[in-house]
Amino acid sequence: MADLEAFRSDVQRWLAANAPDAVRGLVFAGEGDGNWGGRKASYDPPEMKRWLEAMAARGWTAPTWPSEYGGGGLSPDEARVLRQELAAQKLPPPLIGFGLEMIGPTLLRYGTEAQKRQHVPGIVRGEIRWCQGYSEPDSGSDLASLATRCERRGDHFVVNGTKVWTSYGDLSDWIFALVRTNPSAKKQDGITFLLIDMTSPGVSVRPIKLISGKSPFCETRFEDVRVPVENVLGAIDGGWGVAKALLGFERNMIADTFGASRGPSGERRGSRLANLARQHGLGGEGEPLSDAVLRDEIARNEMDERAFALTIQRSRDAAKAGHQPGPESSLFKLYGTELNKRRLELMVRLAGPEGLGWEGPGYRDEDLTLTRNWLRSRGNSIEGGTSEVQLNIIAKRVLGLPD
Ligand SMILES: Cc1cc2nc3c(=O)[nH]c(=O)nc-3n(C[C@H](O)[C@H](O)[C@H](O)COP(=O)(O)OP(=O)(O)OC[C@H]3O[C@@H](n4cnc5c(N)ncnc54)[C@H](O)[C@@H]3O)c2cc1C
Repeated sequence: MADLEAFRSDVQRWLAANAPDAVRGLVFAGEGDGNWGGRKASYDPPEMKRWLEAMAARGWTAPTWPSEYGGGGLSPDEARVLRQELAAQKLPPPLIGFGLEMIGPTLLRYGTEAQKRQHVPGIVRGEIRWCQGYSEPDSGSDLASLATRCERRGDHFVVNGTKVWTSYGDLSDWIFALVRTNPSAKKQDGITFLLIDMTSPGVSVRPIKLISGKSPFCETRFEDVRVPVENVLGAIDGGWGVAKALLGFERNMIADTFGASRGPSGERRGSRLANLARQHGLGGEGEPLSDAVLRDEIARNEMDERAFALTIQRSRDAAKAGHQPGPESSLFKLYGTELNKRRLELMVRLAGPEGLGWEGPGYRDEDLTLTRNWLRSRGNSIEGGTSEVQLNIIAKRVLGLPD
């Protein structure tokens, strides 16, 4: 404990001396906000770049990753202290994204030494942005039916096919993709996990526009794309196990986003709901809200969120003892995304007509972000595997129920 408190003092001093003032208090609450890094990154405000570089130099963008690959080498307890101190000094994460949350941990578990040395430091420093090439036009929930063809020609593969719903494909530098290397094997047994440089000739990306007005998704096509054999993660035809492990990391990432006991600006989520109700005239400052039904719903939401945050914390504690995410990540993913949908529905109701703003005068930025986040929340229970698919996994692999 004494060591941990000494570490806390060091962190406090270092953050006070090194975090640019311009990034203090920044809140990233909207879809795709925050610094995702990569070659096409733009930094707003520009000091975000200095903040990223300072944190990355200490490995604190990936605090618990091994220092030989650029990570911070911190223990889970030290990483928790770092998170607490960042929140206390109102500092935003210097880097977020699929590199840190999805492919990085998968590389650390399944990568060869050469693959770790090639890819992990670039993720830590935010130099390379990654996207996920799993879904295809005819393969979503039944992911193992994927058809992207991958044929070996000596020291390289040739890839042909189409991926869809590739989030931020147009802004990414590399893609981790599932491809079919053995069409005659049982469907799960003919899949390979491949790392593909998106600047390779034959890769093309087309953004798809959504109801939220943004285009965070893409269709990604591969036409005779040559990929070196050493870019296979795991074994050839053995990609399904790697793919499932990555989905565990992805589902935990999604659940963590909604399981944090505090919202993006550091406020307790429950108090945000009550404050929102007051802002919209449903109660005076310091008084109980006038509508008993709304009071009940807000209290229920807050209790569910607190219970969920504590459950996530318990699972993090188990992870300290070396427990890797397994099928139980489906429980967190399911609960977190459904809870977030309920929270945003309630927020839109509390905001009344202002909760349905799209653009133009008369709406505050928070109102417009709320509408878009509400629409975006519908997708959270689809991405990373739908709620129905999570229920199937929980029934079969957590509860052991028959098919
Ligand atoms: C916001 C967002 C971001 C995404 N980002 C990415 C990305 O970066 N990369 C990527 O590869 N993919 C991404 N996806 C795709 C996502 O993984 C798929 O949409 C998802 O797996 C569902 O597949 P589908 O859309 O083909 O729906 P389908 O599989 O066609 O499902 C349609 C409906 O049928 C239900 N259903 C299907 N099978 C069963 C079953 N066995 N039992 C019960 N119900 C079933 C589903 O629950 C759903 O309601 C993203 C999706 C969203 C919404």
